[in-house]
Amino acid sequence: MTTAMELVITLVAPVSLDPTRVASFVKVFGADHAERLGDRATDIFVEADLAATREKVKTLVADEAFDAVVQPVASRAKKLLISDMDSTMIGQECIDELAAVHGLKPKVAAITERAMQGELDFADALRERVALLEGIPVASIEGLLARVITASPGAGTLIATCRAHGVRTVLVSGGFMQFAVPVAQRLGIDAAFANELIAADGVLTGRVAEPILGGDAKRERLFAECEAMGITPDDAIALGDGANDLPMLETAGLGLAYRAKPKVAAVADGLIRHSDLTTALFVMGIKADNFAADPSDHP
Ligand SMILES: [Mg+2]
Repeated sequence: MTTAMELVITLVAPVSLDPTRVASFVKVFGADHAERLGDRATDIFVEADLAATREKVKTLVADEAFDAVVQPVASRAKKLLISDMDSTMIGQECIDELAAVHGLKPKVAAITERAMQGELDFADALRERVALLEGIPVASIEGLLARVITASPGAGTLIATCRAHGVRTVLVSGGFMQFAVPVAQRLGIDAAFANELIAADGVLTGRVAEPILGGDAKRERLFAECEAMGITPDDAIALGDGANDLPMLETAGLGLAYRAKPKVAAVADGLIRHSDLTTALFVMGIKADNFAADPSDHP
């Protein structure tokens, strides 16, 4: 059974959106009208079935160099943005970078990759990797934060604009508080939740605090934030790339997979494959003219 409803298809390109591609989408969908959100993005409004339209759009953009996200018009504005950290808000996997201190990056990164693909139990794989970090000086984290860890393209603008529009931002990470807190601070994210590396005498012990924050805990955090705000998960947008983000992405009103693993991309509501994190702003209906300046651009 299909149910026609008022949908918006948001096309977002990395640099500028080709008007002929927009025109072709308008034609294919017999759209009522299109509306520019900026040089990089345009909304196309259609009356159609959501699941069928998402399938059709997925096929149509497979070989394009821009992204397209389909959602009901009525619920596009959001009050909460909840996001993964590693390989989503930042360009690295913190545990892999920590392992590099011991010369173990290739070994740890291989396990991280399998865990993010959903091939390993998340908690077991985390304990196994953290054990390899035993003896690493806590002080080396500061160096990594200063020299290695970088915000993903568009992250600063995304968070600053959310703040300016009254959208609460929450970081929820299967990584570590020792990274999540400074990253949240740097980007201006309202709150951060992550696992805790246990240290003693200034070095990591190779243990992580239990219970481990995994995929289910990310979804629980989404529920808890919604309850505290008096909103429903439909008012939330979630961002993530790994298998442990799936429960959160599936529960939020809109779950966007950012440069995601195939398992995640297969089920997410929308994909960011080509454009930066500001895609989430266009998807929420915020025009480029109303983006806030990225504070990190002005040191
Ligand atoms: Mg991740």
